[in-house]
Amino acid sequence: MIVGEKQVKSIIVKSDLPACEFSVNPYVGCEHACKYCYACFMKRFTGHDETWGDFVDVKFWEPVKNPQKYCGKELFIGSVTDPYQPAEEKYGRTRALLEELRGSGAKISIATKSDLILRDLELIKTFPNARVSWSVNTLDENFKNDMDNGVSIERRLRAMKIFHDAGVRTTCFISPIFPAITDVRAVIEKAKERCNLIWLENLNLRGTFKPSVMKYISNNYPEFMPLYRSIYVCGDNTFWEMLDSDLRGFAKEQGLEYKVNDDGFNRPFDAPPVIVNFFYHSKIKKSAQKNDKSF
Ligand code: SF4
Repeated sequence: MIVGEKQVKSIIVKSDLPACEFSVNPYVGCEHACKYCYACFMKRFTGHDETWGDFVDVKFWEPVKNPQKYCGKELFIGSVTDPYQPAEEKYGRTRALLEELRGSGAKISIATKSDLILRDLELIKTFPNARVSWSVNTLDENFKNDMDNGVSIERRLRAMKIFHDAGVRTTCFISPIFPAITDVRAVIEKAKERCNLIWLENLNLRGTFKPSVMKYISNNYPEFMPLYRSIYVCGDNTFWEMLDSDLRGFAKEQGLEYKVNDDGFNRPFDAPPVIVNFFYHSKIKKSAQKNDKSF
């Protein structure tokens, strides 16, 4: 792992992502090295030749001026790369940011694949209506290990429960859903008692990672190749339409609300989680690609 340090002018940037006004990414590059990572586009802008997942730049910034100006604003920490990737254990830049914003009244949301965030639970609890999401796209640890270097699914779900029990709003982000591999129903059943939101996002294969993911499927799940070709070569959406329909029925059986392209943020904490389908929502990725200008 090549770790660099860099000084940036400011760390909080305006965002045009849906449901957030500002975004923050304390790290460039990501040690989790997910095979399907759309953030690898960042290599182009940062002068890195290394393979995605082999480098991380740690950002240092001038003190945040007048943190109170973020009072009531939605601030997304980790819109591009994981703010609790392993480098955070040593450098603590995400924690440093939270310390700077403590008491500002900012409405933070944090996305991660790590349980290192447990270290900062007490600090995160000081933010009004803080939200934390964990990506869980399988319960199969072997498949997870093939896909990413994040902590185990068991550890993510444990962290989700601890935050939820502590009164912090949690999201189980079932993303990306791999056709015929991700058992969405099983993940929902496992997560529903420990989260406020369940977000669904389909696997998109548009980036440079498309050939490697297709090769992985071909080598490991050859029986699914006709399906993957129909979706990712021929552009057939039938699979997603059928899954959408199946999950609507499943949500009803489970007594859970099911929505499309709605963040579902404004629910009472004690209400059962709402399932939100983002299958047809490509704006998040396009926006994210324009999003992080702080490197
Ligand atoms: S955790 Fe997120 S940013 Fe990091 S490699 Fe995986 S998908 Fe990319």
